[in-house]
Order: sequence, then structure tokens, then C-alpha cells
Amino acid sequence: MQTVIEEERQRFDRQRRRTYLIAGLLGSLMVTIDIVKLINNPVLPLAETIIYVTNDVLLIIISLSVCWMMITRRESLVTIERFMFIVFAAEALLFNGIVPPLLGQTLPQLWEQTVNDDIWFLLMICTLAFHLFRHRISVILVSSLYGLALAIVGGQVLVAGLQGNDVTMGLRALQVYGMGGIFLCFIYIISRYRSISQRLQIEYQLMQEWAFIDMLTGLFNRRRCEQLLQTNIEYSRRYHQPLTICLWDIDHFKQVNDTYGHEVGDQVLRQIARLAQSSTRSTDLVGRWGGEEFCLILPHTCLSEAEELVDRLRHLIKTQVRVGQQPVTASFGLVEYDTTDNLASLIRRADEALYAAKAAGRNRVVVMA
Ligand code: GH3
Ligand code: MG
Ligand code: MG
Repeated sequence: MQTVIEEERQRFDRQRRRTYLIAGLLGSLMVTIDIVKLINNPVLPLAETIIYVTNDVLLIIISLSVCWMMITRRESLVTIERFMFIVFAAEALLFNGIVPPLLGQTLPQLWEQTVNDDIWFLLMICTLAFHLFRHRISVILVSSLYGLALAIVGGQVLVAGLQGNDVTMGLRALQVYGMGGIFLCFIYIISRYRSISQRLQIEYQLMQEWAFIDMLTGLFNRRRCEQLLQTNIEYSRRYHQPLTICLWDIDHFKQVNDTYGHEVGDQVLRQIARLAQSSTRSTDLVGRWGGEEFCLILPHTCLSEAEELVDRLRHLIKTQVRVGQQPVTASFGLVEYDTTDNLASLIRRADEALYAAKAAGRNRVVVMA
């Protein structure tokens, strides 16, 4: 589960790096075009040209630095994103909000600037804030930033109205800001919904893991084994397919614990679980039945095939698992599903077979017809 989350996170990081790299390069290109237009604008006063060109040059430097950081991977993504957020927020408030009215921007010019780039830039920054910060902080940041930008435009329209100017274009600009605000609420609800549903999905998967997986060995636990067995019984009955199950138990395991300690006993359990998983097919199901007892469900497998497989596992355990100088062995009880069987009778017969293997001297496979 953790590796799945980590892989997803890394994939998302790579996508973001690529996107920022492309956005940084394209942004620099567009700002360069803007510089050319500013310099070639004959009606723009020199002071304004200098202010806007300086701002554009700064933007290009910042964008290219971000691209460089994306390539060299010197800084963490979140640090770069937060830095970008602060720069862009200041840029939007200062150069799109405060400076133009101070330089005598008229309401038709305000309208043109709003729909040309100001509103899109602001919406982009606010959307970035929803992704970058925890939801409470992001709401505070976005409402402050958007509220300030809106207040500046509102103030500009009010002053123009008080001076007796036609405010139609200013009101239009305000309307666009209003629509932008609604759009942001919509984005916020979607991002909240997505993060809540992702969290619920992760919690559900973790719960499933805890409810059905044995923590020591990573195998299915008994509850899950019984569910899987019931499903396989129904499948075999319906499609007349063979099904074999095996209950097996480590021999004299108490002595292992008593002699070498519980920790060594746990290691033996984990080692045997790994051997069982690696020596069976992916369609075979291995579970921990309880204590030092295990369960093997072999769908589509008749008794003779199963006996061969289980005896191979018995041999593997005997030759590969050791404590001190002693080999560890296990006893196996094997039964094939019969149409008269139900879950309880199948388990009971497997248990009897295991008991017979123990009684016959251990380290053996007993097949119950
Ligand atoms: P037999 O050959 O008849 O199966 O003998 P045995 O000693 O294996 O059987 P017994 O039922 O007497 O003892 C089982 C031991 O398994 C006792 C218990 O402490 C140990 N055991 C059960 N669960 C765990 C576990 O999770 N970790 C460890 N280390 N030991 C466990
Ligand atoms: Mg035992
Ligand atoms: Mg036992």
C-alpha cells in the first residue's frame, strides 16, 4: 500500500516538473514578445515603458530560474511551488493591481487588461494555492488575494465614478472578477471532494489490508482464507473443477521458541511463509491459519498434482529452513473437495489428515481420500 502511494506521488512529481518546465519556457517566450511590443509602443510614456520592461525582465529571469531548478532538481518541488506562488501573487497585486491606476489607467484600459491577462493570471495563482496549502490556509490565502485584487479594481471604478467618468467598462471588469470568484469556489469544491475521496479510498484499502492480512507473515489471515475457500467451493461446484486444500503445521515449533526465543520463532514463520509463496503458483492461495499452522488452497488442482506440489514444499522447508543446526520440518494434511462437502466438512477432513500426518511421525504429507 505504501509503495503504491509512493509510486503515485513520484509519478505526479514528474508530471508537475514537466508541466512547469514547459510553462516556464512558454511564459518566457510570451513575456519576451510583450517586451518587444512595449518597446515599439510609441504612445507609451517612457516611465511606464521602463517599469513594465523591468518587470518583464524580472519575470523572465524568475521563469528561467524555475526551469533550471526543474532540470537540476536542486530544490524540492513544494519549495519551488511556494516560491512561485509568492512571486506571482506579489506580481499580480503590484503590477496588475496597484501600479496601473497610479500610472493613470483608464476604465477601458482596465477592461482590456482584465480580459487580456489579469484575471487569468489571478485565477491560475489561486488554483495553485488550493494545491499547495492545506485547505484552511489555502482558503484564507485565496480569499485574501482575490479580495484584495477585487478591492483594487472596485476602488478604481469608484474613484472614476466619483470623478464623473463613464464606469460601464469598469463594471464589466468587476463582473468578470465576480464570475472568476464563482469559478474559484467551484475549483475549491472539486479539489476538496477529490482529496476527501482519495483519503477515504486509502483508508478503505488500509482497513481491508488490516482485516484480511496477517501482519507477521503478510499472508492472508484465517478470516480471508475461509472467505476464499467458500468462493472456490462454489466455483468448483458450479463448474465441476477440481479443488484441493492443505492444512499444514510446523513440527515441534514450541521447542524452537523455548530453545531460541520467540523472535527466532517469528523469523522461522516468516521464512516458511516466503517459501510457500514462492514455491506455489500465483493462482494458489497461501494463508496463515493461526499460530504455526498454515493453509494452502489449490484451485483447478487434483489430488495427485497437489500431492506433488505439497511434497516439494515439505522438502524445501526441510532443506532450507534451519534453527541452529536443526532442520525445521512440517506436516501436511491434504484433501480434495467432494460435491458432498461444505466449508466445515472440507476443513474438518483436512484437519484429520494433518492430525494423521502428525500421528504417523511428522515431516510428511497425508492424503485423505
Ligand atoms: P507439533 O509438532 O505437535 O505441532 O508441536 P508444536 O510444538 O509445533 O505444537 P504446539 O501446539 O505444542 O506449539 C505451538 C507453538 O507455536 C506454541 C506457540 O508459542 C507457538 N506460536 C504460535 N504462534 C506464534 C507466533 O506468532 N510466533 C512464535 N514465535 N511462536 C508462535
Ligand atoms: Mg506445530
Ligand atoms: Mg499447531
